[in-house]
Amino acid sequence: MDFEKANTNEYTNIKKVIAIMSGKGGVGKSSVTSLLAVSLIKKGFKVGILDGDMGGTSIPKIFGITGEKSNTSSKGIEPVTTPSGIKVMSLSFLMEKEDSPVIWRGPLISKTLRQFYTDVLWGDLDYLLIDLPPGTSDIPLTMMQSLPVDGIIIVSSPQDLVNMIVKKSADMAKRMDVPILGIIENMSYYECPDCKKRINIFGKSKTEKISKEMSIELIAHMPIDPKLAELCDEGAIEEYYNINRALVNLLSDEVLKK
Ligand code: ADP
Repeated sequence: MDFEKANTNEYTNIKKVIAIMSGKGGVGKSSVTSLLAVSLIKKGFKVGILDGDMGGTSIPKIFGITGEKSNTSSKGIEPVTTPSGIKVMSLSFLMEKEDSPVIWRGPLISKTLRQFYTDVLWGDLDYLLIDLPPGTSDIPLTMMQSLPVDGIIIVSSPQDLVNMIVKKSADMAKRMDVPILGIIENMSYYECPDCKKRINIFGKSKTEKISKEMSIELIAHMPIDPKLAELCDEGAIEEYYNINRALVNLLSDEVLKK
């Protein structure tokens, strides 16, 4: 595997590449990536999402574009555009049966991800968000090493071994000389719809302590919101902007400052 940074094609101009990682699956990495994209597009930026979580591609489902296929020509591969204008590239747009399991070895996954960067006709983008595979193993590391990533966002949940994940991610980021833009703690609490009391379902989180120790910004505590899960399930996440705009914007403002 060569670690030479990939270049885009002549039809593409990307200003900033942000990779979103998590210590394990199911913490809401894809949901947070999608919300970030929604907030950025609503602010008038041009945004793309590269679905790098090849083993569990959920971005097309979250945006309701699962049946779509990418057109390919001699120029490259066309991404699929969501109703609000986010450009998405996912392996499922190239597969005949999108629910076939992808049992690939790391190098092939890394190669495909690199191709999504080099061969997709992204056009002009202010932000390309990369939804990395979960974990801090060799696969996300290799992926990041071969792409010109400008910043990393870590998504965690209170029941994570956050200490270990943040340390490993910080180590990875240091080796690649890429800044960690911050941590987003998802599923932090549940707010009672009647009395508005916040309940820490998973107990007291250690994220705040570790973020201070490591001098990494804790960007946001995101609540458990059944409405968010419902919209992700229905492929209508773009509607969440009209339901909880404050939360959606909270994510992007912090990212934009860096
Ligand atoms: P990951 O990408 O880390 O595997 P997903 O983003 O696919 O995780 O989320 C896993 C599941 O949890 C999905 O069903 C999603 O809708 C749900 N989910 C994620 N974040 C929240 C949240 N804040 N509130 C409620 N459900 C959530």
